[in-house]
Amino acid sequence: MVDPGSPCPACHDGVLEPFLRIDAVPVVCTLLWPTRQDALGAPRGDLDLGVCRSCGMIRNLAFKPALVEYDAAYENSQHFSPAFSAYAAALARRLVDTYDLRGKVVAEIGSGKGEFLALLCEEGGNRGFGFDPTYDGQVDGHDAAARITFVRDYYSEAFADVAADLVCCRHVLEHVDDPGAMLDTVRRAVAGRGTPVYFEVPHAGYVLGPSGLWDFIYQHVSYFSPPTLRLLFERHGFDVVDLRSSFDGQFLSMEARPATVPRRSPRPDREAVAEVVDQVDALARRYHATVEHWTELVERRSHQGGVVLWGAGAKGVTFLNATGMTAGIDAVVDLNPRKHGSYVPGTGQQIIAPDELRSRPPDTVLVMNPIYQDEIKRQLATMDLRPDVLCV
Ligand SMILES: [Zn+2]
Repeated sequence: MVDPGSPCPACHDGVLEPFLRIDAVPVVCTLLWPTRQDALGAPRGDLDLGVCRSCGMIRNLAFKPALVEYDAAYENSQHFSPAFSAYAAALARRLVDTYDLRGKVVAEIGSGKGEFLALLCEEGGNRGFGFDPTYDGQVDGHDAAARITFVRDYYSEAFADVAADLVCCRHVLEHVDDPGAMLDTVRRAVAGRGTPVYFEVPHAGYVLGPSGLWDFIYQHVSYFSPPTLRLLFERHGFDVVDLRSSFDGQFLSMEARPATVPRRSPRPDREAVAEVVDQVDALARRYHATVEHWTELVERRSHQGGVVLWGAGAKGVTFLNATGMTAGIDAVVDLNPRKHGSYVPGTGQQIIAPDELRSRPPDTVLVMNPIYQDEIKRQLATMDLRPDVLCV
């Protein structure tokens, strides 16, 4: 936990000021629960979001690392969605081309089940090292699997001898209690070879925007905007090579190299920070009205016919819990077969396969992520279903 008014961990200049509270959300929203009762009793924690008005850093002041444990039951694969798979494949091609990764060694921190690492290895004929304490021993369907070594551990200097030509780390930095310390560790491991690094995090600008509200989750300790992420990398001994938004503005992609001469006292981009702070203030103003809007809409529509939610990922879980939606929504559809039959933490809806909608045709489908709206409509049409599809 960090007290409101504590020095900002990114710039050490400003302080973190609370701007939004969402109480009692599941601490691990991607964990699968086998019964409704278990799901309703899932461990919870509070979101007490604070912002630094000097650098734009956003952090959950109520985060307690001890509440969050990552193990083999951690389920966060998005590779079942065609839109996400296409994005990941294009990213792998771009990194292989940019850094000429052919017949080289690629390391990934937080490699999950190894899907992205396998893409990098396939694309360039590379060898891979994946570091992830949640790795469960399955890498299916990839020719490159034999060239990948998985280490069921957190990445640290102990593995600096893995002579990687690229170190990538996607959707990890926002989970760690001390992102600066993590960057220090990575820098010490890669500085000797000058290895480039690729980091990807959720884009705070998207989370703060109209479609991103439900991306606040307990496991995300920090939310980074471009000026904050740049400052953090510069303060921890990296030169930024490229920083861009990706996946339709939902992610932030950072390419950096260890600096030979670290910058002295880098400063954040004031104008960019002011934009972030404006977004934070606007979100704080509209949050409660948004919760009310969806609560009323679901109540009204559930009296007229079935309402289902599409997307049992983090967004769906936060939406259901922040709105306290234990009734009104019949089920949650998800493409990931590993989730089917299990229950949403906190609110207890069952997670079902799209096919099950044939026997219980809904009148309303709420889509958690607008980027998947078209593929969802197509999939419904192939089942002869034409419900109202609304983006949350
Ligand atoms: Zn700051």
